[in-house]
Amino acid sequence: MAVFSPDELGRYARHIMLKEIGGAGQQKLKAARIALVGMGGLGAPAGLYLAGAGVGGLRLIDDDRVSLSNLQRQVLYRSGDMGRLKVQAGAEALRALNPHVALEAAPVRLTAENAAGLLAGVDVVLDGSDSFATRHCVNHAAHAGGVTLVSGAVGRFSGQVGVFASGRTRGFAPAQRLPCYACFAPLAPETEETCAQMGIIGALTGIIGSMMALEAIKVVTGAGVGLSGRVLVYDGLAAQCRTVALPVDPACPVCGVATEDHAPSH
Ligand SMILES: [Zn+2]
Repeated sequence: MAVFSPDELGRYARHIMLKEIGGAGQQKLKAARIALVGMGGLGAPAGLYLAGAGVGGLRLIDDDRVSLSNLQRQVLYRSGDMGRLKVQAGAEALRALNPHVALEAAPVRLTAENAAGLLAGVDVVLDGSDSFATRHCVNHAAHAGGVTLVSGAVGRFSGQVGVFASGRTRGFAPAQRLPCYACFAPLAPETEETCAQMGIIGALTGIIGSMMALEAIKVVTGAGVGLSGRVLVYDGLAAQCRTVALPVDPACPVCGVATEDHAPSH
């Protein structure tokens, strides 16, 4: 078990005093490796909170560059970052926030071909990407690799967060399994709208991105009741929140019984 330096003890003092986290939970955070897919409106606040929380390693995955219209919500970047790769500017900002975090920058778009490699060695992946194709690639790799997926999505004034730990229950009896993202969102819509087409209120991405960070911290430390098997839907205009239970789809093409391969790796 790693020994915390005086600097770390000072930084994490408010975590360590929480009985749900404590010194043991802080050690788990330091030992954790988390990947962030998409360093936009969700990945930016999530990255800040995870780095501040003392997660030992963060892998930032995004091929995009910072543009003027990003600055309204992507709180990781400054005006002077315009034109820079998000993973580069982001890693720099997170390193400045907490030098104890090992940062890896992957300036690539996650695809079916590279997903397994990009998620290798991580405990949790946060998906804040804006494309259904990417979301399904992340889910597939997370399920196959036994990585817990924390998924967030936003549009206009509302958003949702879900935790999918199907990869941790691979090979279990059907009744003991947890759903994957594809059980929840089996079909990609024919036309998908992005923030560029429908608009998004900046503060909402901060709320959903922060919820993703909190769920990831809960997954790592075991604190509280996780969102696994449920999706939380937040309506910012109405100021209302609800959670919806998600059943496992036995016919799911990703985690269903027909896809049974081998024993779980975790
Ligand atoms: Zn599934």
